[in-house]
Amino acid sequence: MRIETCHFCSSNIYPGHGIAFIRNDAKTFRFCRSKCHKAFKMKKNPKKVRWTGAFRRSHGKELLHDSTFDFERKQNRPVRYDRELYAKTINAMKRIQEIRLRRERLHYKQRILANKRILRDRVLAKQAKKQSLERQFLAELDEADFEAPLAIKDKRTTVERAKQSSHKHKTDEKMKAAKPKAPKMKK
Ligand SMILES: [Zn+2]
Repeated sequence: MRIETCHFCSSNIYPGHGIAFIRNDAKTFRFCRSKCHKAFKMKKNPKKVRWTGAFRRSHGKELLHDSTFDFERKQNRPVRYDRELYAKTINAMKRIQEIRLRRERLHYKQRILANKRILRDRVLAKQAKKQSLERQFLAELDEADFEAPLAIKDKRTTVERAKQSSHKHKTDEKMKAAKPKAPKMKK
């Protein structure tokens, strides 16, 4: 009995779990759950599916080259029972697991920190751009300071003009309404 790895998502398959597919050339494919089995039947490429180990490994999200992986080796040759050897290997397994976990955590931390640094740089660049734009706007305002009162004057006059003109228009309309087609008829 051994812990197999899923052909699709490369997670562990414990005895009594998952499903095995044996191709007509006698190659076995083991799957941890129906999700992986279905994905395999749909001929999905595990390197292109984001939740698989293959994707994570090919995109630098997992620890790849490490000396702790060298201990994991498939061995089909039976080993004669030796109590001391068993005790030693079990102790070694625990210790190796500890070391690997520590290294993986460090790897994740460094990866996330690098991403955070990139994000921070982007935000800072955005802020700097905004500030420079604001400064430019203020400088332009300062330059336009002399013309400001004139502009306001103009505005007032235009508003007044508009009011007057609208009043005129209204009166004209009223006049038109009061005098329908009588003058034209006379012509
Ligand atoms: Zn799986």
